[in-house]
Amino acid sequence: TLTDRLSRLVKTMRGQARITEDNVQDMLREVRMALLEADVALPVVRDFIARVKEKALGTEVVGSLSPGQALVGVVHRELVATMGAGISDINLAAQPPAVILMAGLQGAGKTTTTAKIAKHLIEKRKKKVLTVSADVYRPAAIEQLKTVTKQAGAEWFPSDPGQKPRDIALAALDYAKRHYFDVLMVDTAGRLAIDEALMAEIRELHAVLNPVETLFVVDAMQGQDAINTAKAFKEALPLTGVVLTKLDGDSRGGAALSVRQVTGAPIKFAGVSEKIDGLEVFDAERHAGRVLGMGDILALVEQVQAGVDVESAQKLADKLRSGSGFDLNDFLSQISQMKKMGGLAGLMDKLPSQMTAKAGAADMDRAERDVRRMEGIINSMTPLERRKPELLKASRKRRIAAGAGVHVQEVNRVLNQFEQMQGMMKKMKGGGLMKMMKRMGG
Ligand code: GDP
Ligand code: MG
Repeated sequence: TLTDRLSRLVKTMRGQARITEDNVQDMLREVRMALLEADVALPVVRDFIARVKEKALGTEVVGSLSPGQALVGVVHRELVATMGAGISDINLAAQPPAVILMAGLQGAGKTTTTAKIAKHLIEKRKKKVLTVSADVYRPAAIEQLKTVTKQAGAEWFPSDPGQKPRDIALAALDYAKRHYFDVLMVDTAGRLAIDEALMAEIRELHAVLNPVETLFVVDAMQGQDAINTAKAFKEALPLTGVVLTKLDGDSRGGAALSVRQVTGAPIKFAGVSEKIDGLEVFDAERHAGRVLGMGDILALVEQVQAGVDVESAQKLADKLRSGSGFDLNDFLSQISQMKKMGGLAGLMDKLPSQMTAKAGAADMDRAERDVRRMEGIINSMTPLERRKPELLKASRKRRIAAGAGVHVQEVNRVLNQFEQMQGMMKKMKGGGLMKMMKRMGG
């Protein structure tokens, strides 16, 4: 597999002090393949590789890194910089109503994303949001927007297939003004492929609406073709942001790089499910790992070296070997090390996908919340209680629960999880943990 190939290269390059024209070639060839396999468009790949090469040449290889690892670091940083530049949240700096115009091909996810963003603006930014559909070619599309707008808790402005898109836009704008909406979101028609009539129509909508955001919605599964779609929309409209949808699919998401390069607009959000809450702020760091497809083990190596306290892991291992028990302090330190490695979601991203296929984004969010809550609970215990969890009887649990602002059941749940971990640790007898740390490069 690709990861194997890259890891092999990383190994063969070990022991060289600097990235040179000589040792960089093979590695860059693998990176190029990784990007092409992730469906980044060819011209974009060429540019990217040229930039990486320029940045990498002469780079001193610091610490215990091999030149290969250092190069992966350069690649990773460049990917993050390319995909991540720009402001993420929706810009609403306009005389209300701030208008958001949605653009993209049919099936890209415009209507769904309209509702997702409406929900986001209502819940996170306390805005009053109106939606309207200018998709007069498919009556079902107008109904679809009505349905998802209701789910989002926003208001929907009626339109019908007999009207001109321009008139719909003006009527909705007028209504939004008179009823003091903060935001008007205008969903538009898409076609299966770019056509001039469609582009003329959305240009006209742009002219009458003067939107503060013109969002290009693009399907991450579209692959190589995304670059042409992006070019066409970029030529027609001054795009202010991109939403990359269907990242819950199994594409490697290389479209992000192509679209970012071609449009110059920041990728603001990622669609991660069909459901109305399936919207995430685009995370370039995380996405870079996915595009490279080796984010996995190599990024993990870097993070382990950067963040994890090898000494305390060693101490823990010694302690387990010497037979003294794994207590809540150790449990807490494990939790905080996990957080240093980029949180559960970050960690899961870096493991081979077959291991994590079952863990969806929602599970990850929940897991991260659980970890924070666990920390809060353990932090509310006294040092003695952490060393001797058997002291934790009902009254102490009540005090801890009150201190952490949770129910006593939650304290019990943490103690159960701790006991499970303790059991696992006994089985591993210490050696296992150090072996694991070694494997991760610590
Ligand atoms: P439009 O033609 O651009 O308005 O696209 P729609 O919003 O109607 O979406 C087309 C299809 O893609 C629908 O079946 C949506 O449920 C689905 N969809 C949209 N966004 C996402 C996403 O982020 N993930 C998944 N899995 N499906 C999505
Ligand atoms: Mg639609």
